[in-house]
Amino acid sequence: MTPPCTTERSAALLARVPDQLYINGQWVDGTGEPIVVTDPANGRVLKKIQNASVADGARALDAAVAAAESWAATPARTRAEILRRAFDLLQERRDDFATLMTLEMGKPIAEANGEVSYGGEFLRWFSEEAVRINGRYGANPEGTGTMVVTRRAVGPCYLITPWNFPLAMATRKIAPALAAGCTVVVKPAELTPLTTLLFVQLLEDAGVPAGVVNVITTTQSQAVSAPIIADPRLRKLSFTGSTVVGRALIAQAAQNVLRTSMELGGNAPFIVFADADLEKAVTGAMLAKFRNTGQACTAANRFIVHSSVAEEFGRRLTERVNALEVGPGIDPRVNFGPLVSDTAVDNVDAFVQDALARGATLLTGGFRPDGPGSFYAPTVLTGVSADSRMVREEIFGPVAGIRTFETEEEAIELANDTEYGLISYVFTTDMDRRHRMIDSIDTGMMGLNTGLVSNAAAPFGGVKQSGLGREGGLEGISEYLSTKYTLISSS
Ligand code: NAD
Repeated sequence: MTPPCTTERSAALLARVPDQLYINGQWVDGTGEPIVVTDPANGRVLKKIQNASVADGARALDAAVAAAESWAATPARTRAEILRRAFDLLQERRDDFATLMTLEMGKPIAEANGEVSYGGEFLRWFSEEAVRINGRYGANPEGTGTMVVTRRAVGPCYLITPWNFPLAMATRKIAPALAAGCTVVVKPAELTPLTTLLFVQLLEDAGVPAGVVNVITTTQSQAVSAPIIADPRLRKLSFTGSTVVGRALIAQAAQNVLRTSMELGGNAPFIVFADADLEKAVTGAMLAKFRNTGQACTAANRFIVHSSVAEEFGRRLTERVNALEVGPGIDPRVNFGPLVSDTAVDNVDAFVQDALARGATLLTGGFRPDGPGSFYAPTVLTGVSADSRMVREEIFGPVAGIRTFETEEEAIELANDTEYGLISYVFTTDMDRRHRMIDSIDTGMMGLNTGLVSNAAAPFGGVKQSGLGREGGLEGISEYLSTKYTLISSS
């Protein structure tokens, strides 16, 4: 099942990754044709794994339902300690997780290591939050009773994750769910299911009881998910992925009046004012645009740069982009890997060709490098016109398109002119302007003079069509808790 791969160590790791579904504490076979997982750096097969059918999905939900009551009743301290053990185990197994993510998703090994740190923090953070699930208590204004507000686990949850951050998107959902006392069925993306399978093995080692976490890997996402979402025993759907799929899932969830958390697409503006520290802005742009090969919901999508500094910004950005080491992410010298698939390469190239056809100028990139793998050269364009597709749509790839503005009002208008509202980036040294920008830009998150904001201790999420709810921070656990109010009459 495991063909030759880059190194013996990687081959040994792949052999250790489970290839079955995980239901009710058992590794079990699916019933569909195997899922073939490949390495986007060279197209080689990494592993073939089990493919869940509709019936397998139903069995996974049965297991989560059966375990729900006892897990919710498990002392918070016990749940916390299991999560903390999972955090410790992840540190011990860091190299395995980083290597596996690089192999199945393509990101450079240093970035994969960064994701192990980031993803692990959700385990630590929510192990700490598990014991702080508080309610309220007070007299009602009429003085006729005592109002008691308690919070309890919402019940069985269905968690659907994307391929771009295979570990962190899983821990960002599983950790708060378990901390709150919820049981889960997890469905990772079919392009990158191996990391979740390895992670659930870690959870088993950390002491998560049977049925609390169940994993189904499938190529039939819609067919397998629809009956789970329609099942009245399911109490919560948490999804991270594209806005188009998110909308469809919200419609399905409406039939069951299901609690939903939706972490959807973005179209982040990256605004550089004339007074910005340009070096800082370029460093921020490299992180916000080229980290994860531009495949992040938080990726800067529209560079909106004051006309007086646009040329210099473009020049310095191009210089930094040209210094990137492109290649297979498993090579530690590489800091720019392949995209996740050939389809992703075609999509990104279509954005670039469209912008060029509408008058943009290419500063660097804009081509597929020779050789195997799903590579696309990191690209910088300037003079991108307002009607270009990359202005309206999420690029999800390593392409920075620069437009210019003259006044602060114009920058705000351009930034907010989108159906999305996940994150924005603003570079300015003017203190008053910083506060005006916080108030005026319509996004759930903002990076002020920084290109990276993600943190387990912060509420991650968007407004408008970028989603509903927040993951991480004090807010994250609330997504998995329901509030109950009781009036105790004093008469
Ligand atoms: P996607 O929407 O294609 O898939 C996401 C997940 O949903 C995968 O597991 C997929 O198998 C599953 N899926 C697809 N169709 C489904 C259906 N009809 N029913 C049930 N499940 C279905 O997204 P993707 O290509 O994997 O990820 C990229 C997208 O995710 C981008 O738009 C990106 O912005 C977004 N994203 C958002 C966040 C965030 O926190 N806001 C984080 C990461 C990625």
